[in-house]
Amino acid sequence: MNAPTWIELRPDADVATVVAELAERGVWAHASVAGQRTGLALGAHSALVAARDLETIPGVAAVFAPASAHPRLDAQAGAPVLVAGLALGGPTPILAAGPCAAESRAQVDEAAAAVAQAGGGLLRGGAFKPRTSPYRFAGLGQRALDWLAQAAENHGLGLVTEAMSERDLPAVAEVAHLIQIGSRNMQNYALLRAVGATGRPVLLKRGSSARLDEWRLAAEHVLAAGSSGVVFCERGVRGTDPSTRNLLDLGAVAHLRWIDRQPVFVDPSHALGRRDLIPALSRAALAAGAHGLLLEMHPHPGRARCDGPQALTPDDLGALVAELREPRPGLGPGRDSPLKRGELEPGEQEGGEP
Ligand code: PEP
Ligand code: MN
Repeated sequence: MNAPTWIELRPDADVATVVAELAERGVWAHASVAGQRTGLALGAHSALVAARDLETIPGVAAVFAPASAHPRLDAQAGAPVLVAGLALGGPTPILAAGPCAAESRAQVDEAAAAVAQAGGGLLRGGAFKPRTSPYRFAGLGQRALDWLAQAAENHGLGLVTEAMSERDLPAVAEVAHLIQIGSRNMQNYALLRAVGATGRPVLLKRGSSARLDEWRLAAEHVLAAGSSGVVFCERGVRGTDPSTRNLLDLGAVAHLRWIDRQPVFVDPSHALGRRDLIPALSRAALAAGAHGLLLEMHPHPGRARCDGPQALTPDDLGALVAELREPRPGLGPGRDSPLKRGELEPGEQEGGEP
């Protein structure tokens, strides 16, 4: 939905009364006179109010809103994305956790057991890893996918894993309940279209310099190509201080959740690059309105082949989830107790099996 930008008034309207009525609804209006006619220009920072709700104000003749640039994204507003029996974007926050990369069958299985034990719903882990340096570990490909799929199944979890290129997409789509598009690929439009064409739900990470409007339009590409739903994932944007890896934009999370009404996860692991502050940002993310967390966890972080310093241990993960489940009144409107499995409500349909 696009915010209305212009209101046409009736000739007998009392302009000041209409402006005051609009202000009551958080809509800021400025009178604009053209000949005999008076209209109201609506400010860009107004609350997002449906045109039909403004049309009922006495004195209003017509309300104009620009056509939306992302009609398919608007159509999924307010509705959860259904993934492996879970409602992502529903009232119950969901935990997706696991290693940065799948390194061995045993590592992945141990990680999946810990995710299930902590009450998580999805196993994360990469088989195809985008690496800044061409000399770094880039994932083990197909055999890593097999380990991930098996571990997720063994422990009753859904699987989220990244498709890095169109070449590896068919193998990823074969096993992933939720296909991750990484930060570096958020504006790879050919990949966005291809991943959408699989029909699968997609976890769309934010590009490290992407604006919200660019992120929404990337989601629109995925949906226009046929995906059953897009879940946004904020993982930090490029900041100015290297003490943290990235700058976690919780304003964007709150905007997506409460204004756009889109499913949104937060990945504090890649935002911070260090494990000790993950609890603080996890709490903040949920308070801002995140529908779930994507956390890196490794059975032995010291041995991780990538992103060890930011990986939680299984014990850390258990402790964090226990802490997040403590009720904290006042943290975020409309929130249920966090990080339980978000099972489907009766009657909800899942968006396709892998
Ligand atoms: C990841 O989640 O494994 C990852 C590489 O994250 P990002 O694309 O956000 O850097
Ligand atoms: Mn990582």
